[in-house]
Amino acid sequence: MTLMEDSRIIGHLKGSKNGPTMVFFGGIHGNEPSGENAIEEVIHIIKEKEISVNGNIYGIRGNVLALLAGKRFLDYDLNRLWTVDKIEKIKGKKEEQLYNEDKELLSLYQLLNTILETQSGPFYFIDFHTTSSKTLPFITINDAMINRKFARLFPVPIILGIEEYLEGPLLSYMNQLGFLSIGFESGQHTEKEAVENSIAFMWIALVYGEVLKRVEVTSFKDYYFRLKNSGKNYNRFFDIIYRHPIGSRDQFAMAPGFKSFDIVKKGKALADHNNEPILAQKKSRIFMPLYQNQGEDGFFLIRKIPLPVLWLSALLRKIKMPALLPILPGLSWADRKKGTILVNKRTARFLAKPIFHLLGYRNRIINKNLILMTSREVTANNKMYQRTWWYQNKKSV
Ligand SMILES: [Zn+2]
Repeated sequence: MTLMEDSRIIGHLKGSKNGPTMVFFGGIHGNEPSGENAIEEVIHIIKEKEISVNGNIYGIRGNVLALLAGKRFLDYDLNRLWTVDKIEKIKGKKEEQLYNEDKELLSLYQLLNTILETQSGPFYFIDFHTTSSKTLPFITINDAMINRKFARLFPVPIILGIEEYLEGPLLSYMNQLGFLSIGFESGQHTEKEAVENSIAFMWIALVYGEVLKRVEVTSFKDYYFRLKNSGKNYNRFFDIIYRHPIGSRDQFAMAPGFKSFDIVKKGKALADHNNEPILAQKKSRIFMPLYQNQGEDGFFLIRKIPLPVLWLSALLRKIKMPALLPILPGLSWADRKKGTILVNKRTARFLAKPIFHLLGYRNRIINKNLILMTSREVTANNKMYQRTWWYQNKKSV
């Protein structure tokens, strides 16, 4: 085995009976070791205290070689490769054509397939990250109801729709396969709190996913209040309204001092991009401002989603309203099974983006005239989760 394969698994704990399988990833970005440290710690304590496990817990290192080097990535971002096309392309390469991250992807891909084939569900995928700026801890999810229902149990802000702006994060891929997947950004890269928050998150997730019994996790309440305090009671849903992209040769510098969730007024100078000042176009909140060299996203802007909008969208999905969409002019199925719809741009303008969002659709522009809309609900394997306590929870947001 190579060093990469040898170090892939942080730990695997298996209970005596079949049960849920919870998979934690740490360090898919190599300069973000907090998750890896947290997973090591929690698995160590579960073993030491002989806490009984129902089902399976996997702790997995993401980008092994980049973690060793302390870099976000070596050749390119491992968390932007998880699309069916890119994976097929990498699988087709000859050994000598493989970049470092191609090898990481293939090794992870194989491991994930083995887990899915050999273990029983429900499956939970949780990916730990940190950010270059200071931030409250927060959750990012693709907007499927299974993700919302599980994510809202945690007392931290939840950001919907990041997949619309990023191509190929691992979690979007797992989501498209139908599985619950949640990203947790625990704080700034080097902060001690980032590790502590990930540890708290992992314990809580294991209890909520019924892998561990709450009575056996003696500090459960402390972990919960730790997140609640760090999350500053912002346990609300937010939507991304803007991404500021930067090219690999661009000169980009954020104005100093921004933290995620800071409110910015219209006209506020946010950054300097190729010697041009970048101003906030409307009042919103800044999200994930970039304060490091490697990265393609300068910053994002977000806003709170009003509660009635969340309720309405849950309701519309429940009554399967989205299935009727292709009756409308300008809309047609791209692939009915995958729940993808082609929309011509004029129709899209008429049926504004927020309506598609309500119905669980996220868009990607494919050419001048067409937008491909992907439904997170059609591919979500709701059946796998419908017998869990949190899925049946009556609250509909
Ligand atoms: Zn990351």
